[in-house]
Amino acid sequence: MSGGLRPDRDELLDRSRAVLLGGACGDALGAPLEFMTPGEIAARYGRLTDMVGGGWLRLKPGQITDDTEMTLCVARGLTTAGCWDLRAIADEFARWLKSKPVDVGDTCRRGIRNYLLKGELESPPNQWDAGNGALMRMGPVALFTLGDDNLMERCTVAQAHITHNHPLSDAACITYARMVHLALLGRSKATLRREADRLVEQFPTFRFDPYSGMATGYVVDTLQTVLHHFFRSPSFEECIVNTANQGGDADTTAAIAGGLAGAYYGREQIPRRWLKKMERRCVEELEDLAVRLVTLRHPTHLP
Ligand code: MN
Ligand code: MN
Repeated sequence: MSGGLRPDRDELLDRSRAVLLGGACGDALGAPLEFMTPGEIAARYGRLTDMVGGGWLRLKPGQITDDTEMTLCVARGLTTAGCWDLRAIADEFARWLKSKPVDVGDTCRRGIRNYLLKGELESPPNQWDAGNGALMRMGPVALFTLGDDNLMERCTVAQAHITHNHPLSDAACITYARMVHLALLGRSKATLRREADRLVEQFPTFRFDPYSGMATGYVVDTLQTVLHHFFRSPSFEECIVNTANQGGDADTTAAIAGGLAGAYYGREQIPRRWLKKMERRCVEELEDLAVRLVTLRHPTHLP
């Protein structure tokens, strides 16, 4: 671990749980708003702050979608294997796809089919693969690799490439994992901002200030939306609500924002009324997996 304060063990576990729980909250809150414009959302809900269900997928209140389900796949694959095991993750994706999920992104479906048909763990590079489908399931990788930036980069790119093989997706995923790491260690927003600014320096297309208002599934739009709202919102709840009410790929942007904001603000800041709407089994599994992931490489001590 590079210099700086060592976080208290309980605090780190608490922030770790909030990465996966926060992501699921964003997914469940944002899913009814998916593919709506901010104007349509305002006309229908004013400002949506509760898990109401519905939307184009006709969801139950608190129901999660592919964003959290694929995150669960990564987390289950890693914890079952007990180490970095890309095939274990791909097998979880395959099992999930066969379970007829409520929603599947096109690029994810293609990548998982490619694995099922050819056993290949890497999708070929594709200029159309710059969607947010790899970024949306990064929470478990960030937790598993905390304290080792090189390991994080390798694991991030490998898990992303099962379905998404594109340099902008890779860059977004790596920056996101680094920011989650810093947040888990209790670092300030100014420190996280430097990480975001480094990405913008390297890839100016990610510039999010001024914010364009585009919240599509294109990974550049997605990360801009997440960064804009994360840095401008004063609380976990505001960050997730603001991100979801931006519409577009609302469940996915809010899920990604939720993971980062969860790491930054911690479990206590997640509104109870949201957690109560979600399936209890799902909440418990996410918390259990988060703790196992962040301690997997450090069975006796934390990084
Ligand atoms: Mn979704
Ligand atoms: Mn989505």
